[in-house]
Amino acid sequence: MIVAERKPFEEIYECVKRHRKVLLLGCGTCVTVCMAGGEKEVNVLANQLALAARDRGDDVEVMEHTITRQCDDEFFDEATMKKVAEVDAVVSMGCGVGVQFCAAKFGDTAIYPGLNTKFYGATLEQGVWAERCAGCGECVLGDFGGVCPVARCSKSLLNGPCGGSADGKCEVDPENVDCAWQLIYDRMERLGRLEELEENRPMKDWSTNRDGGPRTVTREDVKL
Ligand code: SF4
Ligand code: SF4
Repeated sequence: MIVAERKPFEEIYECVKRHRKVLLLGCGTCVTVCMAGGEKEVNVLANQLALAARDRGDDVEVMEHTITRQCDDEFFDEATMKKVAEVDAVVSMGCGVGVQFCAAKFGDTAIYPGLNTKFYGATLEQGVWAERCAGCGECVLGDFGGVCPVARCSKSLLNGPCGGSADGKCEVDPENVDCAWQLIYDRMERLGRLEELEENRPMKDWSTNRDGGPRTVTREDVKL
């Protein structure tokens, strides 16, 4: 899932206070799972904003609404669009994709991000999420025992480890970050495939990923 966290309150408030009527729009998918932008978080922020506006004497009315997904046209139903039409601005509590989807749909209504979008990650335990994929476009997990060197090695090394690996930890943050290359080594050893790591791997051809500008995936077989 996409992992995000809420922006600092004052940053959001600075945007909100420019308007008379604001809609906080939550997203019910990834950012609900990572407890950043779902219905509950929208409700908490709406109350905080309303209280702050009252205390500071700013004339701002805050409404709240959450849809299933902000990155998919089908969830912007009539009721949602009606709410948007009633306000001067929307604070999207979706990821950066959701914010941009809203901006394209909401015409002249101002749109602000309520979250900082971080990475594609997994839940390690409640309240802890970790980066696992960088969306590189050419997955090499099969060659590295299911551990991603692009997202999990601090230097994205395809031929590791570097000289900073010690006791299974990464020199970039030895307290908190496992060395991805230690994980790759251990996994490949368990799979009986260690000798594959002796081959020097060519640099990744990033031109197939980003040099053509923003990427799209088109599936002719499922297009309507
Ligand atoms: S190699 Fe890593 S960054 Fe690339 S798609 Fe696979 S998991 Fe994601
Ligand atoms: S210590 Fe390991 S994870 Fe950190 S940069 Fe070096 S190879 Fe990558």
